[in-house]
Amino acid sequence: MSRFNFDFKDIIEEAGDIIVVTKAFPISSPGPEIVYVNKAFTELTGYSYEEAVGGDPRMLQSSDTDPKTKEKIRNALIKQEPVRVSIKNYSKSGEGYWLDMNILPLRDSDGKVSHFVAIERDVTESKELEFKLDQLSRIDSLSGLLNRRAFDEAIDLEMSRFFNTNKPFTILALDIDLFKAINDKYGHQAGDRVIQEVSKACEAMFGKIAHVARTGGEEFTILIPDMDTEMAKPKAEALREKITTIRAISDSGVIKVTISIGISQVKLDDKTASQILVRADKALYEAKESGRNRVCIDKPVTAEQLSTSC
Ligand code: GH3
Ligand code: MG
Ligand code: MG
Repeated sequence: MSRFNFDFKDIIEEAGDIIVVTKAFPISSPGPEIVYVNKAFTELTGYSYEEAVGGDPRMLQSSDTDPKTKEKIRNALIKQEPVRVSIKNYSKSGEGYWLDMNILPLRDSDGKVSHFVAIERDVTESKELEFKLDQLSRIDSLSGLLNRRAFDEAIDLEMSRFFNTNKPFTILALDIDLFKAINDKYGHQAGDRVIQEVSKACEAMFGKIAHVARTGGEEFTILIPDMDTEMAKPKAEALREKITTIRAISDSGVIKVTISIGISQVKLDDKTASQILVRADKALYEAKESGRNRVCIDKPVTAEQLSTSC
């Protein structure tokens, strides 16, 4: 006899969390067959009890459900072990939602696993906040461009793509010319506005085809996938030219600005992304040395010996 004068079934039926019970076998399609869903399930998914029971949980997934998460669940079910995952599922009307999903094996009176229960909580709001914060942590607040961390991720990804496909990519290293003098003459705030104007010009010209980042105070790095230095040079020239037309307004007058650009391309014998960045910086240094407001390309002669051309 129960110690309580209520029915545990009511708790399960009325719980705010979703509860789904499936048979333990077969795991592969058409299993694991759903034998019970509670009210929270029908409310969130839009599937009625009758529609859900007899089906399998794959009806809630879609092609963009993370394959690694699906694999993790499958492995746990095979081993009959508990598993906890975050997973994106879809309602009957096609609306996506995130679940914190706990799956536990249920044993029969002989101790054999006969069913699994999934206890699930809708965590869509906190997941979306997490995505937003992650995006924000990749953006530089002054310019709205990618920050260094995001750029480092992008170049590492492009590097592995290059190792797999040999598709070249090009780096533009940009530095505002004589920026200290702009700060000194017009003030730091006006300097910030110049950085914003330069950022806007970079984004307008390269935002659709490249990763555009503010990687230092008045330094920018642009990664252009599927492009070699020869193709990139006229685009870099156009950007340099465009920036000469910027007129930033300050209390002490109108500010004109120029930039110098160094260009480099990934090479077959590059091992790390920093090698390409070092070559772009070397070309940028040449651009500064040869008078500023110009574009220089890193011209590889051999792997060891490098030269530049402006
Ligand atoms: P060069 O042509 O050789 O690049 O000369 P430069 O004066 O621009 O020299 P450098 O690039 O070394 O100077 C960078 C200056 O940018 C130094 C620093 O005071 C200023 N700076 C760095 N970050 C910021 C920022 O966020 N806002 C403003 N207003 N100034 C910054
Ligand atoms: Mg600088
Ligand atoms: Mg500078």
